[in-house]
Amino acid sequence: VACRKKGDAESFLRVAAAGAGELEFFDRRSSGGRSAYICPDEACIEKAMQKDRLSRALKKPVAEAAKDRLKQELLCRLR
Ligand SMILES: [Zn+2]
Repeated sequence: VACRKKGDAESFLRVAAAGAGELEFFDRRSSGGRSAYICPDEACIEKAMQKDRLSRALKKPVAEAAKDRLKQELLCRLR
């Protein structure tokens, strides 16, 4: 979503739309539905949350609060 880096799909963080304006972190095992990929680094996570990048990628409206929550969750996973 944030940059055009290519790589092993397994190495990206995967995010999906979950109902009205909500987002969820996608576990590697889950599949199906439209999802967005984000590099597992802080700069890319920040970038992905800017503007309507995620909602465009997922083709769903995304609430600001949902982005904040997801950002925290993704940042936690990097540690
Ligand atoms: Zn990136």
